Amino acid sequence: MKYATINGYIDDASRLNATQVFEVADPGSDSSKSLLIIAQLVKRASLTGKKISIGGARHSMGGHTISKNGIYLDMKPLNYMQLDTVENVLTVGAGALWSDIVPYLNQYGRSVAVMQTNNSFSVGGSISVNCHGWQPNVPPIAHTVVSIRVITSRGDVIECGRDQNAELFSLVLGGYGLFGVVVDVKLKVVRNEMYTARQYIVNSNEYVKAFRELSHNARVAMAYGRINVNPDNFLEEAIISTFEKDTGNVSAALQDGPYKKLRRTVFRASANSNYGKNLRWKAEKMMVSLIRNKRFSRNQLLNESVEVFQNTDTSKTDILHEYFIPTASVSPFIDSLKKIIPSYNTDLLNITIRNVEKDTDTYLRYASTEMFGFVMLFNQYRTPEGEDYMKRLTQKLIDVAISFKGTYYLPYRLHAQKDQFLKAYPQADSFLF
Ligand SMILES: Cc1cc2nc3c(=O)[nH]c(=O)nc-3n(C[C@H](O)[C@H](O)[C@H](O)COP(=O)(O)OP(=O)(O)OC[C@H]3O[C@@H](n4cnc5c(N)ncnc54)[C@H](O)[C@@H]3O)c2cc1C
Repeated sequence: MKYATINGYIDDASRLNATQVFEVADPGSDSSKSLLIIAQLVKRASLTGKKISIGGARHSMGGHTISKNGIYLDMKPLNYMQLDTVENVLTVGAGALWSDIVPYLNQYGRSVAVMQTNNSFSVGGSISVNCHGWQPNVPPIAHTVVSIRVITSRGDVIECGRDQNAELFSLVLGGYGLFGVVVDVKLKVVRNEMYTARQYIVNSNEYVKAFRELSHNARVAMAYGRINVNPDNFLEEAIISTFEKDTGNVSAALQDGPYKKLRRTVFRASANSNYGKNLRWKAEKMMVSLIRNKRFSRNQLLNESVEVFQNTDTSKTDILHEYFIPTASVSPFIDSLKKIIPSYNTDLLNITIRNVEKDTDTYLRYASTEMFGFVMLFNQYRTPEGEDYMKRLTQKLIDVAISFKGTYYLPYRLHAQKDQFLKAYPQADSFLF
């Protein structure tokens, strides 16, 4: 997906943040020349008092990548990559998208170790939010990062890892671009393998138990669940999908996702329609037997863009939320959602749930212990009223997450109040000041 720069305005995936910028800066695509270009840009900005915002694919939703009347540094051209097949480490420009990286690694029988559910994001944006995905029982992406090269606000190029400049390393990972520009990243990669898919329908109050039983198996390489959002039996059921390693030959070619059009039609028809939502959940339960034992390569699963489900309605937009809840509180959190969400009369399209292990790499961490991430997709009006309504719901859900010693994910709308931010992220005080 592209977000065009029209008359100096740029926006992000929320479609709520169109803002005029002073300049769009291009770092070029050459590893060593780009270092110089970015260092000079940083020095010039500091002399002229202009702020620099850094953007990858701009799929964050809170204007994180845009500074009003500032310089927008578009990292996408910086997308070189080189695989070390002995060490299994990929060196990659921060602007490269997973949609470039997955096909590149596929040629070498390798794959990304941890990334989001879709391939539309840049590696720089992904490590700056410390993303996580369908890979169960592992920490977020930061644990797969070997080292990074960063240009600081003084224009210095600094290489950081666990053994050198370790503090800067932990601040930049999950640091939302506030500690410098990530130029490139060394990432551990894994083998591309074939997986067999299985799906299970479970009661939502047994989600954690079922997820654990199904995913705590060395052969299960990917797992996630979806909980039903149709009004007939709201949040009572879940479908857990697992992908288990098999020994078959890896199919070499990456294809366009199977059933893509059908899945999009069923999904979008459920927006703003209770009938559509009930129908979709029935269809998804019927698909369980169709999907069972289908085989996919890891890279095939990772190589789907966000466009499959994307909203094209100009009056409305799809907004994500994510709440991280400690294991013991998953069931009571679901019970709270059952009461709160219907009372706000919003259009909730989807909830997926996957776990993420304790993160010991980043400073501003959202997983200080094992957490289950509830990813919620809402469809809302692009109006001040639509925003205000969602803001109130978001603040309510953040309070509930905090009451369960949970956190909320920071790439989305900036609706948290300051005290909520400080409670959810007690490290924030020393991170920012
Ligand atoms: C449809 C959709 C699905 C998603 N699914 C998931 C998911 O499964 N798991 C998950 O964890 N997240 C998910 N996200 C959130 C996503 O991971 C983040 O928004 C991520 O930042 C997107 O990468 P990006 O390249 O678009 O980053 P951007 O939005 O471009 O940037 C994000 C942040 O990183 C900073 N940044 C970007 N590049 C650099 C750089 N080179 N150096 C320093 N700072 C930089 C930016 O300034 C900004 O603060 C999803 C988002 C959407 C819209």
